[in-house]
Amino acid sequence: MPQKTKETPMMAQYQAIKDDYPDAFLFYRIGDFYELFYDDAIKGAQLLELTLTARNKSATDPIPMCGVPHHAAQNYVDILVDKGYKVAICEQVEDPKTAVGMVKREVIQLITPGTIMDQKAATAKSNNYLTALVEAKGAYGFAYTDLSTGELKVSRLADEEAVINEAVSLRTKEMVANHQVSQSILDDLAKLNILVSYQDQVTPHAELAFVSQGLTDALEQQVVAQLLMYLTITQKRSLAHLQVAVPYEPSHFLKMDHSAKRNLELVTSLRNGTRNGTLLWLLDMTKTAMGGRLLKQWLDRPLINRPAILKRQAKVASLLDHFFERSSLQDELTKVYDLERLAGRVAFGNVNGRDLIQLKTSLLQVPKVKSILVGINDDGTFDDVVDHLDPVSDVSDLIERAINDDPPISIKDGNVIKTGYNQQLDDYRDAMANGKKWIAELQAQEREATGIHNLKIGFNKVFGYYIEVTKANLERLPEDRYERKQTLTNAERFSTPELKAKETLILEAQEKSTALEYELFTAVREQVKAQIHRLQRLARGIASLDVLQSFAVVSETYHYVRPTLTSHQHDLQIEAGRHPVVEKVLGEQKYIPNDVKMAPDQAILLITGPNMSGKSTYMRQLALMVIMAQMGCFVPAKSATMPIFDQIFTRIGAADDLISGQSTFMVEMMESNAALAHATADSLILFDEIGRGTATYDGMALAQAIIEYLHDHVHAKTLFSTHYHELIALEAKLPALRNVHVGAVEENGNLVFLHQMLPGAADKSYGIHVAKLAGMPTNLLQRATEILTKLEAAPVTAVTEAPTATESAATKQEVTPAPAPKSAPEATPVAAPVTAQTDTVDEQLALF
Ligand code: ADP
Repeated sequence: MPQKTKETPMMAQYQAIKDDYPDAFLFYRIGDFYELFYDDAIKGAQLLELTLTARNKSATDPIPMCGVPHHAAQNYVDILVDKGYKVAICEQVEDPKTAVGMVKREVIQLITPGTIMDQKAATAKSNNYLTALVEAKGAYGFAYTDLSTGELKVSRLADEEAVINEAVSLRTKEMVANHQVSQSILDDLAKLNILVSYQDQVTPHAELAFVSQGLTDALEQQVVAQLLMYLTITQKRSLAHLQVAVPYEPSHFLKMDHSAKRNLELVTSLRNGTRNGTLLWLLDMTKTAMGGRLLKQWLDRPLINRPAILKRQAKVASLLDHFFERSSLQDELTKVYDLERLAGRVAFGNVNGRDLIQLKTSLLQVPKVKSILVGINDDGTFDDVVDHLDPVSDVSDLIERAINDDPPISIKDGNVIKTGYNQQLDDYRDAMANGKKWIAELQAQEREATGIHNLKIGFNKVFGYYIEVTKANLERLPEDRYERKQTLTNAERFSTPELKAKETLILEAQEKSTALEYELFTAVREQVKAQIHRLQRLARGIASLDVLQSFAVVSETYHYVRPTLTSHQHDLQIEAGRHPVVEKVLGEQKYIPNDVKMAPDQAILLITGPNMSGKSTYMRQLALMVIMAQMGCFVPAKSATMPIFDQIFTRIGAADDLISGQSTFMVEMMESNAALAHATADSLILFDEIGRGTATYDGMALAQAIIEYLHDHVHAKTLFSTHYHELIALEAKLPALRNVHVGAVEENGNLVFLHQMLPGAADKSYGIHVAKLAGMPTNLLQRATEILTKLEAAPVTAVTEAPTATESAATKQEVTPAPAPKSAPEATPVAAPVTAQTDTVDEQLALF
């Protein structure tokens, strides 16, 4: 701690406030600047590229200092918070002109990575989630909120893995924990760069009672209370826009862990980390920011509740049937601003006149949207959406009456409130207008009286109203009534007693009128605030409609079909399916469609084929189709019948070593094990070249054992690609396994990929051909061919029985005998129904 000799009263005040916020940058308001002192200044100057100066430069112990102008502060705050720091905004809370002694200052808000409300357009389509966690006897209460929209969800999670999964899926930057949370979770959060903020103490208050109404689980109540307490302490203002906490069960959604989401490139591309080339990029034809955010949420949590999925599907189908209505819907939606965030800012108290006009404009769209929708809703498909489209006309009427159509940014300088809204304000404005007219008349009179034609009456902030006469004309001015106010190079400025009197009246009216306008504006804002929950409900309806129209547009543009979702059987029949993203990139003509056909009793497709032939694309294609179908969208295929999957497991592509710091092969085995341990007969498993990361025999042995285990015990639908050609022999032994391969033909010694899935196994692995394509030297390729021929003379085959004497010693040691094949009925997957769920439990899932 720097020395504080000869501490001034201001620095004492600074220190007292700073002591309460040791872990935040303290932005201390002095006049038009926010100043940072001591270590904050040193570190801040570096991070923000500011000039480091000092207070009391001449003293023996100058205080390091740097500052930012208050009007530009937001940028600097954003930079620090983006880097994971907290910023405490300390304002002067009294008027320095009237303050006795030191101006009182207080921290009015603590901005943190999880609570920052970004207003940049670039981030309008994503949420910034603050999460919270309590741990009690091995169970976890977990909650999350987006402060800008007021969305609040809560769950009870079973284990640490689920907690980390939720945290990663939600892309949270900050988690509010209590000190009971175990070290292993804290370690994982640290590795993920998630800031942990502690909040142990919780006191009840009104907003808590509101948001936790209906919560029955004690752990859920506790975590919501903890989250709210943190918000109350940091934000220090109304949280009226927080919505009632909605409990959710991760098991009500298609489960995918973060590496599956990452590998399938749902929202971020593996190549460059952007949105381009992702499923979100393909599906996002939304017209509103709210729709954009909801789409991302649906993509993160596809449904497993069949009636809910069918409801979404029916809406998409209906929108597809009504082309013209749909395009007018899109036109109207385009004019709807971000109602959710506007509502949030109303509650927070940081809206201006322009925001209210945006709110009005948006609300005025609602009757149009509603009437179009009612027009296509003969069969009641859209009843629930229509029901959400309350135009909140009391609010739009109020704004229409009260707020100027083109108000200034500031709410403190007047011109915000419409004439005719308030009699008193109109009187002040008349007084000002009359005064100004009087002044204009005075100018004419003075010109006439003095004969000075360029005499003019003007106004400036320091001297008020003045009569200006150029030096050349001064002698024509009678001495008596004119009192000199200001001398310029070429002119003199004067006042007269009548001008002074009128000036006082005008300025008073002006001052009173701006003060009254501010008051009226605040009152309007409060009235709007009282309707926040209606606005939010409307926003949900609009968002949902927007996502559904986006599905319709995408489905139409790319010729998708409505999938048939079976309820009680594991029949998967996709005819001419396509990978939606690869197809969009390549163009519809160039993409070769492929079937995925797996009857209820078939569990495993063993895929062989050359590298780069399309195996991994084929596997991803199925997963993306499943996700799209379970979001309620149509799918890229000629026809599709599919079961509803409960989970998707992947082991594809580059190892995802987000947390563990493990070796690639270890991660591969861990991911495979997660599937073996948690997959059910309702799951989808994609295993791409398992075993590649270790020695050949080792890898092949593992791959085979994994296939057998999946076949005998898991019964999940599995696509398993392999370059261990020897594994194709398993088809003879495992009744639920079928070989398929990607076709390739040799033309003039060159390899041509057909990208076509064909029944049976590939006859070669074509590695040498691919090497040739890559341009390897001819003699090297010849040598490889020679070696291959020798190796093929002594083939290694899949162990379908106990090892035989003809196999090498290495094989004997490394390949564990496979378990004796089980009898066919046992090995055949049992067609268990997807977890039964009634229509009512998650009926609302269809919408939100
Ligand atoms: P593998 O997994 O067999 O090594 P990939 O699935 O990565 O091969 O596919 C390699 C490339 O082939 C892809 O990048 C894509 O451009 C192209 N491709 C794959 N499948 C198809 C298809 N069905 N139609 C057209 N091109 C395809």
